[in-house]
Amino acid sequence: MENIKAIRGFDDVFFEEAKKFRFITNTFRELFRIYNFEEIILPIVEYKELFDRSVGEITDIVQKEMFVFEDKSKRVLALRPEGTAGVVRSVIENGLLYKKPFLKLFYEGPMFRYERPQSGRKRQFHQIGCEVLGLEDPASDFEVIKLCFEAFKMLNIDITLEINSIGCPVCRPSYREALTSYLTNVEGLCKDCEERRFKNPLRVLDCKVETCKDLTKEAPVMLDYLCEDCSNHYKSLKTYLDTFNIPYKENPRLVRGLDYYTKTVFEFIKDGLTLLAGGRYDNLIESLGGPKTPAIGFAAGIERLMLFTEAKSEEPLYTVVYIEDTKLEAIKVANELRKNGKRVEIILKGSNLKKKLEIADKIGASFAIIIGPDELKKGIYILKNMFTKEQKEIKNLGDI
Ligand code: ATP
Ligand code: MG
Repeated sequence: MENIKAIRGFDDVFFEEAKKFRFITNTFRELFRIYNFEEIILPIVEYKELFDRSVGEITDIVQKEMFVFEDKSKRVLALRPEGTAGVVRSVIENGLLYKKPFLKLFYEGPMFRYERPQSGRKRQFHQIGCEVLGLEDPASDFEVIKLCFEAFKMLNIDITLEINSIGCPVCRPSYREALTSYLTNVEGLCKDCEERRFKNPLRVLDCKVETCKDLTKEAPVMLDYLCEDCSNHYKSLKTYLDTFNIPYKENPRLVRGLDYYTKTVFEFIKDGLTLLAGGRYDNLIESLGGPKTPAIGFAAGIERLMLFTEAKSEEPLYTVVYIEDTKLEAIKVANELRKNGKRVEIILKGSNLKKKLEIADKIGASFAIIIGPDELKKGIYILKNMFTKEQKEIKNLGDI
């Protein structure tokens, strides 16, 4: 019988990669703490309709990428492809906006999209992200972007921030009209863009097909159509970014692949890959049946970040090496050192001291505490530095 394998695009994460993963999530969690965000933990499965109504029916995510299935009662469910829809659903359902003057929530967890798996693009991937609900001040856009900027500094990733404004229901219709009429005269768009150009023309600007990119080079841009409110919002954001020395590039073609965005959109890009993306979505909450509430958020792709992250160097590993007669003493030593917060392994494999020391070396020990028969008699331990091979006698474990 053939062994069972993991599903394509569903990866196992272990050893160094798992450390990188946690280094990334811990970094964001620490920032969420100092920026006063609270965690929200949500289901992985939602009614498919939630994503139709939030992410948007004419997006790639909903049209091509969702894992959709029926449960036994024929309800149509989907594995969540992103986090914002669920947060907004929960906030409305639980009346959270009535409990606090504004909400700052973060989430972390697996997301699912049926895409062609490749490096940094998986079918199960992980995002860590946040949502600020109830604040329309552009300083809240700035705060969210600043938090991301700090994260990249802490992760030691050299990154480019791109920003744009995609307007609001006041100004977008006239832009949409201008873009649609421009696109009507363009020939040679891909099949998807042929459909998008009438239903969702902004998304044509987001197409990854080279010919589409080329054909829309001269297309009108939203920035030239912003209403006064959107224009002021955008200007204020840029002033904050300038004042606090956050470098950015304005990209008037940045539109984002989800329908719910308004005003500010931004992406942190490295070598052509978007590692983190976000934006404002001032109408989503109302459109899903909640009170009219401005909001902004972002999501970072953990697997994408892992491509550019080095795991943090490890804390030292202490190993306890013994012979059969001193095994109990070895266990006591390990207990004592762990009480002092040290990372300790008792070498339970290997038939003699020499073999045990070899094993200690193989598992990456920095130190070995050796307890042989002579040491036991004398009431001492030998502390061996595994790198320099130096050995010294110690009486007190507290001296380690
Ligand atoms: P892309 O244009 O690369 O497909 P997207 O616009 O679909 O990205 P978002 O929906 O904005 O991505 O998700 C935010 C982030 O989540 C992305 O910037 C990326 O880092 C990550 N991400 C999205 N899809 C995947 C995937 N299939 N595998 C791994 N990470 C992903
Ligand atoms: Mg995508």
